[in-house]
Amino acid sequence: MSSWKTKRRKAIAVAIAAAAMLASAGCGANGAGGGGGGRVQVVATFSIVADIAAAVGGDAVDVHSIVPLGTDPHEYTPLPLDIAKATDADLVIWNGLNMEMGDGWFAALVDIAGKKVGSERVVEASAGVGPMYLTSADGAGTESDVNPHAFLDPTVGMVYTENIRDGLIAADPGRRAIYTANADAYLAQLAELDRRYTEELAQIPQARRLLVTSENAYQYMAARYGLDTGYIWAIDTDEQGSPAQINALIALVQDRQPPALFVESNVDRRPMQTISGETGTPIFGTLYSDELGKSGDGAGHYLGMLAHNITTIHAGLAGV
Ligand SMILES: [Zn+2]
Repeated sequence: MSSWKTKRRKAIAVAIAAAAMLASAGCGANGAGGGGGGRVQVVATFSIVADIAAAVGGDAVDVHSIVPLGTDPHEYTPLPLDIAKATDADLVIWNGLNMEMGDGWFAALVDIAGKKVGSERVVEASAGVGPMYLTSADGAGTESDVNPHAFLDPTVGMVYTENIRDGLIAADPGRRAIYTANADAYLAQLAELDRRYTEELAQIPQARRLLVTSENAYQYMAARYGLDTGYIWAIDTDEQGSPAQINALIALVQDRQPPALFVESNVDRRPMQTISGETGTPIFGTLYSDELGKSGDGAGHYLGMLAHNITTIHAGLAGV
């Protein structure tokens, strides 16, 4: 680990300890056992797992999502409110697969909230998903880090849904029938999305099957549906858009000549604009990778985000 990362981890630990003092000084007055009308108090690390939890939990749960939209879930400094909510929570849900481990913020939060990763009250949504590993795009300094973005594959979303359902049932067995019914309805919609991904990506001619994005976020989805991927940086915590990274992707785009490039909602667009300018390949549209869209634009929920991504990728690569 670089000294920069070590310093960042120390800073996070200090910030969380300070926030915990504020939380215990009064912000955390509403305990889970008390208010909430008997609803299960759920804390989720970021918008995507929070949305799945809200869908499966329905009216039986209150969900607090920690990392706000527009903020990177890989690195984060929890607020006093997050610590109070996590302390009082019946269930804490996180992505796992290295998502929340960029600077160790989640491990520090769970610790100070008096809970344990791996216990029944801390559900890893990705449990059982086979990890895929990041390698850096420019070939320099190959990494062995796990790629956290498994949820961009709808069939992985089904695993997340089952894990979250089982976590809710364990926390609140009296409502087993409700959680099971909600999960079944949600799983059916994910199965329909899997069918769309399968059919629509199968229509793309082999030579056009290169998905170019800024971050290497689509690895699981691409592997499942037979796409190749090109990207500028491996993960958002890396340097973003170095000359070596940009030159490597320009070479790939010139070689493979995909009809379109894509850029994610939460990244700086300028590096991809450079690739587009140098290769003459247009940026076709925006995809979602680490967060939901704003409510109202169709991608404000996980299912809508997956639908937005396949619609945009299909249109861009099929040239329609
Ligand atoms: Zn990411």
